[in-house]
Amino acid sequence: MATVTSTNSYQYTSTSSAYGSNNSNQNNSPNPPSSSTTSNGDEDMFCSKCNESIKSGKALKAGNKVWHDHHFVCSICGLPLKDEKVYQKDGKLYCDGDYKKRFVPRCAFCSGYISQDCVKALDQSWHPTCFLCRKCNKAFGKDEGFHEMNGTPYCKTCYIDTACDKCAGCSRPITDKAMKALDQTWHVGCFVCKECGKSFEGQQSFYCVDGRPCCGNCVDAS
Ligand SMILES: [Zn+2]
Ligand SMILES: [Zn+2]
Ligand SMILES: [Zn+2]
Ligand SMILES: [Zn+2]
Ligand SMILES: [Zn+2]
Ligand SMILES: [Zn+2]
Repeated sequence: MATVTSTNSYQYTSTSSAYGSNNSNQNNSPNPPSSSTTSNGDEDMFCSKCNESIKSGKALKAGNKVWHDHHFVCSICGLPLKDEKVYQKDGKLYCDGDYKKRFVPRCAFCSGYISQDCVKALDQSWHPTCFLCRKCNKAFGKDEGFHEMNGTPYCKTCYIDTACDKCAGCSRPITDKAMKALDQTWHVGCFVCKECGKSFEGQQSFYCVDGRPCCGNCVDAS
């Protein structure tokens, strides 16, 4: 028996600082590889991969670090990155695919990469456009929040509809106290004599007529 008491909240975060077009954070942003043009002479530059010095003019740069030409490769798959989109994170180089695989969250709904706005909810990441009620595809209202069932978000209406028992009397979902009788579930207020509407509260016995409860008086009268 599900009760609808609490509403889960969720928040929007942005991953654009780790990926995408935000260039304010040099370390995480994609950088076009550039041959270093620093001409301040013979000052040695050291390769971030092998720590050996690089003859100036021969260094490839990503962020504020430099590499040998032949060390300017993806740290995962070894792809030469000189002419590729390159990502640098914590001093390591990544190709586009490997960077995304490691650092860009995937949407729990469509499995696509989330490079812009990201909804964090249910311990997973979602595109804002994918974080919808799984049943009616409606976005969740700001104040409404969402309800969770088996790791899936639902709006309140659909959650109640899906998770709650239906009343045998009125067919509507039961969100508060339910009672079991005649092998079915009922709103307390719906479990009444089908003829006169009298409640059976405090009484042990009732009759069953066509699967519905009926009081003694009404059974005698019929
Ligand atoms: Zn090197
Ligand atoms: Zn790679
Ligand atoms: Zn998605
Ligand atoms: Zn819904
Ligand atoms: Zn009912
Ligand atoms: Zn009755």
